Amino acid sequence: MFCGCALSFGDPPNVHTCPVCLALPGALPVVNERAIEFGVRIGLAFDCEIAERSLFHRKNYFYPDSPKAYQISQYDVPLCRGGRLGEVRIHRIHLEEDAAKLNHIGASGRIHGADRSWVDFNRGGTPLVEIVTEPDIHSPERAREWLTLLRTTIRRLGVSDVDMSQGSLRCDANVSVRPAGSMALGIKTELKNMNSFAFLERGVKAEIERQITLLEAGRPVVQETLHFDPATGRLTPLRSKEEAHDYRYFPEPDLVPLLVSDELLDAARAAIPELPAQRAARFERELGLGPERARELAFRTELADYFESALASDGAQADPVTIANWIPALVERIGSDTDPAQSKVAPASLAELAAMVSAREVSRDTARDLLTRLVADGGDPREIAAREELGAVTGDDRLGELVAQAIAADPAAADQVRAGNMKAIGPIVAHVMRETKGRADGREVRRMLMERLSSA
Ligand SMILES: [Zn+2]
Repeated sequence: MFCGCALSFGDPPNVHTCPVCLALPGALPVVNERAIEFGVRIGLAFDCEIAERSLFHRKNYFYPDSPKAYQISQYDVPLCRGGRLGEVRIHRIHLEEDAAKLNHIGASGRIHGADRSWVDFNRGGTPLVEIVTEPDIHSPERAREWLTLLRTTIRRLGVSDVDMSQGSLRCDANVSVRPAGSMALGIKTELKNMNSFAFLERGVKAEIERQITLLEAGRPVVQETLHFDPATGRLTPLRSKEEAHDYRYFPEPDLVPLLVSDELLDAARAAIPELPAQRAARFERELGLGPERARELAFRTELADYFESALASDGAQADPVTIANWIPALVERIGSDTDPAQSKVAPASLAELAAMVSAREVSRDTARDLLTRLVADGGDPREIAAREELGAVTGDDRLGELVAQAIAADPAAADQVRAGNMKAIGPIVAHVMRETKGRADGREVRRMLMERLSSA
């Protein structure tokens, strides 16, 4: 954020350092212009108000991974204020520098018989943005969904890889509960450094339960910082909550106020592509997708990209909603962490499969089997269906004959249907489906049966 060291992850320790990030005496910080532009890009994308003039402050505290004994951050005049992402309002966004990394070494790395901690300064000084929301998230599930939207949006903006496993995205969750119908927020606690989406959801859930148990027993919730251990599901206090004055903030005397120029604003604005929330809105508005499906696809860029290339393919005679409805079935088969573009199912093949179902060339059951085979071996669904004679059994001639046989095979059930007992139609439909090995359309069979049994 304030020196020219390269970003790094996984390099040998202490190879990306300089006098500034090591806090050698006399070294002076210089603001990284690109980091400012990235911060402005995020602020614009979230509809924040960008401060023309903002300030850097020293946040004083001692910690072994911070050689200056203070962090340069922003305090009362942050780069961005207000704004929103999806349903959640943004309180502020500010810039700061990351600390170095402590590696704790147990018995195997003992020196003079004691456990040791080693400091790796490679990470020290990495630019960070802290995004603070308003208390607009009301369940652990929504917290996870919103963090997914945040990650996809930041990735689309091209300002971070947002990889939680490498610490490029970290989340502190503030949690409070209140009686139903009450407007005032309860005392909050903070869960520090949640480093996966699943842990976030589980940690928040556990903390909500802990607070409710306390309050129902007539005991107070204490404002404090907690650690959630995903292995045991336990929450343990890290420290009681510090107040701003504990940090002795004061303006960083080695940096002038930060002025955002019109050129920088223009450059940031020009670099913003269509963002996931806008893409979801477009899927609803222009393609007729339901809001849930639109979000499910748009909040994962790889799904939305796959969907759009399926739509644009030659085989796409199916309508967008039908194609979109087949994507979850594909995701279920390839695993939710896999990019469908890396699977053996070409977007055009999925579009073709959807078109075949719409045109009733194959039954829904056959299409599901075909999809499983496409995932395993790839290929063209229409060719596979033709080669293996998987085409739907349709038409009054062939299907009619099978329906007549099914009625003849179970006259007792047929009589019950004629007498008005609709449940009895099940076994007759099942007979036809068995005979066609699932290649008939169940609804069509039902319709033909009703026609024959009511006119008889
Ligand atoms: Zn440096």
